[in-house]
Amino acid sequence: MGLVVQKYGGSSVADAEGIKRVAKRIVEAKKNGHQVVVVVSAMGDTTDELIDLAEQVSPMPTGREFDMLLTAGERISMALLAMAIKNLGHEAQSFTGSQAGVITDSVHNKARIIDVTPGRIRTALDEGNIAIVAGFQGVSQDKKDITTLGRGGSDTTAVALAAALDAEVCEIYTDVDGVFTADPRVVKKARKIDWISFEDMLELAASGSKVLLHRCVEYARRYNIPIHVRSSFSGLQGTWVSSEPLVRKQQQGEQKVEQAIISGVAHDTSEAKVTVVGVPDKPGEAAAIFRAIADAQLNIDMVVQNVSAASTGLTDISFTLPKTDGHKAIGSLEKAKAAIGFDSLRYDDQIGKISLVGAGMKTNPGVTASFFEALSDAGVNIELISTSEIRISVVTRADDVPEAVRAVHSAFGLDSESDEAVVYGGTGR
Ligand code: ASP
Ligand code: MG
Repeated sequence: MGLVVQKYGGSSVADAEGIKRVAKRIVEAKKNGHQVVVVVSAMGDTTDELIDLAEQVSPMPTGREFDMLLTAGERISMALLAMAIKNLGHEAQSFTGSQAGVITDSVHNKARIIDVTPGRIRTALDEGNIAIVAGFQGVSQDKKDITTLGRGGSDTTAVALAAALDAEVCEIYTDVDGVFTADPRVVKKARKIDWISFEDMLELAASGSKVLLHRCVEYARRYNIPIHVRSSFSGLQGTWVSSEPLVRKQQQGEQKVEQAIISGVAHDTSEAKVTVVGVPDKPGEAAAIFRAIADAQLNIDMVVQNVSAASTGLTDISFTLPKTDGHKAIGSLEKAKAAIGFDSLRYDDQIGKISLVGAGMKTNPGVTASFFEALSDAGVNIELISTSEIRISVVTRADDVPEAVRAVHSAFGLDSESDEAVVYGGTGR
C-alpha cells in the first residue's frame, strides 16, 4: 500500500476531543498499511482569533510579523495531534511548513509554493513515523522568512506535499461529506457528488464554492493528484476529484461513473459591483478604466458595458470585484476621474452571484434557457450575466441568492429525494 496525505480542517480539530478522534482515524490508515502524512489546520476559529488580536494592536496588520503570528495556529494543532497519536501507541513527529520543505515566494499573507523538498518527511516516514505537517505555511526562498499561503491554504499544502511525495491520494477531511451540488447550508436537498472532474471543480471553486480552494484544485490538476474530499465525522465515501471518472469504493475496488450534465450550483456574496456612470463612448475608455484598476493590483470578475444612449453618446460600465477591494477600486478611479472623463461612480455591495457549472452544457441545448426560466419563475431579477464554456453566472440582489440557488437546483433535477445533507461542524467561514 502506498503513501496517503490526509488533511484535517480547523473544524475537525476544534477541541481536544476532535484531536483525539482525528488521531484514531490517522492510526487506522497507518494500521491499514499506509505511510501517512497529515496536514493540519489551526484549531477551530484560531486563525480568525489571531487576526482579531493583531487588529487590536495595529489597525491593518500585514506582512512578516502577521505571518509569523498566524502560523502559530497550525503549530498548536500539529503538536497536539502528534501527542494524541503517540498516546495511541504510534510514533508521530510534527513539522512546521519550513521544516517540511515548503518553499514559497516572498509575498507575505498570500505566498505561492514554488518548490517542495520533503527530505525530513521522507526520513520520518522511513523510520516508521506518522508525519504531521502544519498547513498554510512555508518559508520564503530568498529571505528565509516565514510565509502564509492565504486563507484556507492548508488544502494547498496537502496537495503540494502529495505531489512531492508521489502520494496515491490526497484526502481532504472536512465538516461535510464531500462536494455537494450546492452549498448544503443553503440547499437542504443538495446531493453529494461521487466524482467530479478537475475542470468542473475549478469552475465551482472560482464561482464561490468553499469546499476546496481554487489554487488547491489547480495544483492537483497540474500534478494529476486525485483528491478525495470527505468528512472526518463520518466513515462515508466522499467526493473524488480527478481527471478520470472513477470512484474508489472500499469493497468493490474502482468503479466508473457517468459524468453529470450539470455538476452543481455555486453562489458567492463576497463581491461588490462598481458602476462607472457617463463614460464617453469612444475607443480607449474601457482601457483607461481597467488600467486604473490593474495599477492598484486589483482583480476583477465580471464586466458589462451598457448600450450608449444615442442622444448623449455616454455609456455606463459595470464590473464586479471582491468587496474587500471595493474601497481601493473607488479610490483609484476617483483619482483618474479627470483623465478618464466619466460623470460619477456607483458602489453596490448588496449583490450576489449564482453560477451553474457543468461540462455537459457544451453539448446540451437549452441549459441557458432553463437557467433563466428558473430564475424568472422564482421572481429573481438578473443584473449581469457572464458565461464560459462550462459555466453560466448571473448577478442578482444578495437577498435573492438563497431562493435563486434553490430554484435553479430544483429546475435541473439536482434535488435529492432522500438524505438531507449533513453539516457536522464549523461556522462555514
Ligand atoms: N488556518 C488557516 C485558515 O483558517 C488555514 C486553513 O485553515 O487552511 O485560513
Ligand atoms: Mg481554517
